[in-house]
Amino acid sequence: MDARQPLVRPTDHGLYCAAGDFYIDPWRPVGRALITHAHADHARHGSRSYLAASPGVSLLQRRLGADSRIDALAYGERRRIGEVEVSFHPAGHVLGSAQIRIEHRGEVWVVSGDYKRDPDPTCAPFEVVPCNTFVTEATFSLPIYVWPSGERVAREILEWWDLNRAEGRASVLFCYALGKAQRVLAELAGLTDRSVFLHGAVTPLTKLYRRAGIEMLPTEQVDLRTRRDWAGELVIAPPGAAGTPWMRRFRGASTGFCSGWMRLRGQRRRRGFDRGFVLSDHADWPGLLRTIRETGAERVLATHGQSDTLVRYLREQGVEAGALETLFAGEDGAAEASIDPGTDAAAAGASISERGASTDRHEPS
Ligand SMILES: [Zn+2]
Ligand SMILES: [Zn+2]
Repeated sequence: MDARQPLVRPTDHGLYCAAGDFYIDPWRPVGRALITHAHADHARHGSRSYLAASPGVSLLQRRLGADSRIDALAYGERRRIGEVEVSFHPAGHVLGSAQIRIEHRGEVWVVSGDYKRDPDPTCAPFEVVPCNTFVTEATFSLPIYVWPSGERVAREILEWWDLNRAEGRASVLFCYALGKAQRVLAELAGLTDRSVFLHGAVTPLTKLYRRAGIEMLPTEQVDLRTRRDWAGELVIAPPGAAGTPWMRRFRGASTGFCSGWMRLRGQRRRRGFDRGFVLSDHADWPGLLRTIRETGAERVLATHGQSDTLVRYLREQGVEAGALETLFAGEDGAAEASIDPGTDAAAAGASISERGASTDRHEPS
């Protein structure tokens, strides 16, 4: 670090930019919040004003409540705030997700938020933004995390669905309600035109994606009042619904879980799913390294997840790197898990029942 005050620094309210007097994804109420995306661990209620990328505003409004004041910028549009100029750039994570670029007297910082490099039909692709300092997420920063393509995973899901159909059983696929569920529906739309049933927590978010023009398979909400035969149907539900009474109607169903964590041996069995599909909204290890290289950053600060491994690796490569302390540092994602049903990180440490509870708390019905 140079002697100058860093442009962005961690505080007890979250990442703070003093030159612009704003916070990025603050976890406590602040005056001005810049938000990277609508997942619950990044977008929290109670700040006086919010600024975000326009494609994510409808999701944010839903997350933060109708009374929250949310101002929007198009991707790439610049705005002066205090002594800095800010702009939002696609992060490829979920609909409307953004990296935040901050420029101050010729020095550029980019705060990535959550991001991925793999193609995703539900959001704008990640944009490489050159910068001096790159604040990167590090959720899956171990060399074992390498993702297959979304298209290939969709094919695996369809094969599993077809097999269950042939055997006369339902397929219940657990996916995070915001982002992952819609990505699965969009990837599958290239392979079939059959309808999919949705848990009540997934429906409203899927509607917002449709309204944004994202093409997905036709969907129908699981009707709690009518009895029907679920044999052969595909049902998408949030992970929190696993093991709850809601599942009883699908007796005999095969269950699957979509997550980057499914890359780990034993995860699927330990969590009691019949199938695991490796599909993540975060960058895999090669994606993280490639991105860091492409930004041309002289300094890399890692947040979220297993940042130690990434920092050590980068230092060995001669890159100036450090971990940026966040609320969740050292907690293995467990703290995040207890408050966020919306991200992969939520799967890191919490039990199904904890996640079920947090789904109820954070997904307005
Ligand atoms: Zn996220
Ligand atoms: Zn996150």
